[in-house]
Amino acid sequence: MNIHDSEKIAGMLKSLNYEETETKEEADIIVFNTCCIRESAEQKIMAKIGDIKALKKIKKDLIVVVCGCMTQQKNMKENLKKKFPFINIIIGTHNIEELRNYILSLSAKKKTILDVWDKEKEIREDIKPYRTSKFNAWVNIMYGCNNFCTYCIVPYVRGRERSRQVCDIVEEVKTLVESGNYKTITLLGQNVNSYGLDFHDGKTNFVYLLNELCKIKGDFKIKFMTSHPKDFSPELIDFIASNDKMSKSIHLPVQSGSNEILKRMNRRYTVEKYKSLVDQIYKKIPGATLTTDMIVGFPGESDDDFKKTCDLIEYCKYIGVFGFVYSKRKGTPAEKFENQVPINVKRERITKLFEIQHRISNEILQSMINKKVEVLIEDESELYFIAKTDSGKTVRINKDKDHKLGDICSVVIKKILSKQLVGEIV
Ligand code: SAM
Ligand code: SF4
Repeated sequence: MNIHDSEKIAGMLKSLNYEETETKEEADIIVFNTCCIRESAEQKIMAKIGDIKALKKIKKDLIVVVCGCMTQQKNMKENLKKKFPFINIIIGTHNIEELRNYILSLSAKKKTILDVWDKEKEIREDIKPYRTSKFNAWVNIMYGCNNFCTYCIVPYVRGRERSRQVCDIVEEVKTLVESGNYKTITLLGQNVNSYGLDFHDGKTNFVYLLNELCKIKGDFKIKFMTSHPKDFSPELIDFIASNDKMSKSIHLPVQSGSNEILKRMNRRYTVEKYKSLVDQIYKKIPGATLTTDMIVGFPGESDDDFKKTCDLIEYCKYIGVFGFVYSKRKGTPAEKFENQVPINVKRERITKLFEIQHRISNEILQSMINKKVEVLIEDESELYFIAKTDSGKTVRINKDKDHKLGDICSVVIKKILSKQLVGEIV
């Protein structure tokens, strides 16, 4: 989501005739689009802002902007200004799309701008992103989150769920597909499964939107992220299963394999419910692959709770797991929970989790040998094409004259070389 926000920021800068530079020393404006989901992200961005101090001393006209979810936290804009007085503009998530106007008014008045809105406003449809990815285009379908998982800061910094109109999304995707540049459209939202429910019209929901998007003519696949398991409906499974335009690679964050922990995370499903969802996906969607997000070291997580997480990973046979060490976030309920897990225990658990997943991922890769898969050719060297499977695995293929970058083709996987699949076009 942040990557796509950055594409919108780049779009606004382009409209003001700014061009990308190779180095920060060449830049006339530097925008930090921040993230505060974990403490480590915040520390990194603080260090990067600090790095600009010396440059700003030499280059007095350099414009420094800090925006994104970090600035949206309580007292953050004041703290940032105190720590880094050289920042010119500090704005939040709700007024990021006003950046163009702030830059224009800064140039006119030369006065520092500190403006973080505490409430979300109407969705703006007039910002044209400057797209940086080659064959994939990110498309926001909604903003904000209503779920309030007890560890997560997103609902506090991104506001309540707001869906874009179906017609605006269809128009955007149609333009992207018709440009011929994009083969994958990835729909974005914190919980895409609740898309459209804020319209309260009894008609618009996520499957309705997908159905409209799949009517668009062209050779492209639709992906989406992120899904909340509590809202992943049987209709959605059937729709993915029956529609060729739908990617069969599904990201289904579970966060923990222990019911006790899930309850305290306020995830509103049980391990049994999640497993039955996974069973249905594998049963009804041929070729489905799953990835997930997992948090280790949530307050009160015992050895037994962690073992249940490991068991769930074995059960679900994910093709990939994004594992995170729990990070205390100010203002969230879990910040105040008792029995915070010591950092050394968190580290041991994340290492163990990655070991298990590494073995499972290798087993899945091995099982692909001699199988036929569809890939998108995304890159090339002198001798090879570098392609990606639907689930994002890289496949190296010998080049031939009949294919080019951007083609979707079928390959048979022949072997694994240095952890990379090697295939032959069929
Ligand atoms: N909305 C998505 C969902 O419900 O799964 C994910 C949003 S969040 C940006 C991405 C991931 O960051 C989450 O799935 C979770 O695993 C992780 N995360 C969020 N808050 C965290 C925290 N305080 N500490 C560690 N990981 C966290
Ligand atoms: Fe955070 Fe939960 Fe919302 Fe995802 S669903 S953004 S984890 S509060």
